[in-house]
Amino acid sequence: MKKTRITSIRSSLAWLVAACLVPAIVMAALLLTYDYRRQRAELVRDTVAHARALIHAVDREFAGAEMSLRSLSTSPSLQSQDFAAFQEQATTLLHRHYANNIVLIDAGGQQRINTARPYGQPLPKATNMAQLERVLKNGRTDISDLFIGPVLKRPLINVAVPVYSGNTVSHSLVAVVLPDHLQKILSDYRFPPNRIATIFDASGVIVARTREAPRFIGQPVGPDLTQRLAEADEASLESVSREGIPVLTVFTRSPTSRWGVAIGIPVESLTEELRRSLWLLSGLAMLLLASSLGLAWLMGGRIVQSVRALRSAALSLGYGRGATVPALEIREVDEVGQAITRASLMLTDASKALTDSEARMRGIVESATDAIVILDDSRNIVLFNFAAVTMFGCPLEDAIGTPFIRFIPERLRADFSAQLLTPREPVTGEEEIPIKVATAMRLDGEEFAVEISFPQVLAGGSEVHTLILRDITARLRIHEALERSNLDLQQFAYVASHDLKTPLRSIGGFVQLLEKDYASKLDERAVALIRRTAAAATRLEQLTDDLLSYARVSSDSRAFAPVDCSEVFEDVLQLLDAPISASGAGVTAGPLPTVTGDRTQLVQLLLNLVANGIKYCDGPPLVHVFAEMHERVWVFSVRDNGIGIEPKHHERIFEIFKRLHTQQEYTGTGIGLAICRRVVISHGGRIWIESAPGKGSTFRFTIPATAGESSSS
Ligand code: ADP
Repeated sequence: MKKTRITSIRSSLAWLVAACLVPAIVMAALLLTYDYRRQRAELVRDTVAHARALIHAVDREFAGAEMSLRSLSTSPSLQSQDFAAFQEQATTLLHRHYANNIVLIDAGGQQRINTARPYGQPLPKATNMAQLERVLKNGRTDISDLFIGPVLKRPLINVAVPVYSGNTVSHSLVAVVLPDHLQKILSDYRFPPNRIATIFDASGVIVARTREAPRFIGQPVGPDLTQRLAEADEASLESVSREGIPVLTVFTRSPTSRWGVAIGIPVESLTEELRRSLWLLSGLAMLLLASSLGLAWLMGGRIVQSVRALRSAALSLGYGRGATVPALEIREVDEVGQAITRASLMLTDASKALTDSEARMRGIVESATDAIVILDDSRNIVLFNFAAVTMFGCPLEDAIGTPFIRFIPERLRADFSAQLLTPREPVTGEEEIPIKVATAMRLDGEEFAVEISFPQVLAGGSEVHTLILRDITARLRIHEALERSNLDLQQFAYVASHDLKTPLRSIGGFVQLLEKDYASKLDERAVALIRRTAAAATRLEQLTDDLLSYARVSSDSRAFAPVDCSEVFEDVLQLLDAPISASGAGVTAGPLPTVTGDRTQLVQLLLNLVANGIKYCDGPPLVHVFAEMHERVWVFSVRDNGIGIEPKHHERIFEIFKRLHTQQEYTGTGIGLAICRRVVISHGGRIWIESAPGKGSTFRFTIPATAGESSSS
């Protein structure tokens, strides 16, 4: 599992500050560097321009000298070999020019005149023979490198032009330029003091220099520059100056004289501004970082303080002490604080309501007449109400935490556990709570019968096993006594009616004999009495039969079997054959189901209802029998077109001996419907009537459908 990194608010804020500032600082540094590069490129461009201007000035000097020499070379005194006059002419020219002296050298290398010496003095041979040879050979102006002059014995530069005699070069006319002159051009240029500007000759020898000129004149330029000079006429390079200073050197060379100018800018001065800016930037950045971090630290502190106030409030809420959070500095945290305060109030209300409701529940549980026992998942007792304490004769403290099974006789425990204490699907509230009759045991070992209902519900995600127990010992006792007395009564009724039947039949037989044999000998009144006696005997016999039937209807469902009600109806039709024919009744039936029951009883039920339909009718009777399925019970209906019954009698007609008519109006015993009710009840159903006088009657009774049947059957 990935571990969550925990960070504090303060460090998060510090990171935020760093994340905001560092890129900005890096950006600023990059911009500075970029600016430095731009400035440096600009400086190189400017310096190149200066170098070009300078070399141009040098070239101009040489060109000026060349011009003067060329005009001098065509002097008539030179043509006429009047060297004295020529020296004078040359000296005059010198006053207008910058050359130190003018020298005329013949083809053999001998100086003929030298304005540095009075005319006529012996002169040495020229030392720069290479230049002389070039002039004689090429016939073109030639500018020498720096060399030591034979007359002046110091470093100098010769600008030489050829002197023609006819078509051949006879002499070389030379203007001697001293490095001082070039040094002056350099100093006239007024470079910034830290620049190192150098004028060097075609061989790369220093001729003039802004810094330490006497030390370096006559020496070659630095090795890096020398190497670069061999490759290009104009470039910039990082090198080290002759005095050992790292410099950015820019150089350019004249295409004509091959002389050049190098300007060195000390790198230190170049990067100084950048360094200063970078130092300033880092200083500022540090300051900014420090102040921002400080601010973040302070703000973090405030947030932490507010949040800590919430923490203690939340903990206090957790301990159920309630929490009031004071106003906090940070709005969002304050909102949470207010929410906690509100939640605390709501919790207080809720917990009070819970306490009240618990108290109420406890009151109900404790005052319940049924024993209520709640078990945990291990089937140990967690709740044992007062009724349970009384029922099991077990003090509360002895019961709590012990297994409930201890209150079941040992021989029945396995069965009980399997039936009641094994996990089941929790009750959803729609199905009926199962109720079982079991044998329980008091603490003293006395066994007794209990009725147990065990709703099993889900509460807070876990199952709650509740047992509600009712001591049914007394009820069972009453029930048994009732059953016994019922049985006795039934027995009595049966015996009584059975024993009555024989003498009754004898009485009826004797009375009939009396009428038959003595009717002619007796007066009318005696005959009428005999007839009434016979009728009474018949009625009494009927009554006895009916009573016998009534007594026979038992509630013992053990003999129940599937009974096809169509067959029942057929039996009824046969049994009622005589009254149907006599009254001309129409008796019909719709499709009838098969139910579980006692066939004889069901025949009797339907027989009584159909017979009544035929009997209690003024016109030709129409009786229809049909059945419908309603929520897992069959509802049978027996509908007639008879005289109907007032609603006020709808209940009492089902009581035994209750009749609405005299014998004269309609004969009967008042037992038929009582039998019907007994039969229906013994089959687990109920019976009722829907009727009004003159509107016919519909008797309805229900019989539970056999398991597996549905409304479609
Ligand atoms: P009885 O032997 O008198 O028919 P019952 O118990 O069958 O006794 O009926 C009780 C009384 O209910 C009858 O006396 C009669 O008044 C009334 N009764 C029963 N069935 C009908 C019916 N189909 N139509 C009208 N009245 C009826």
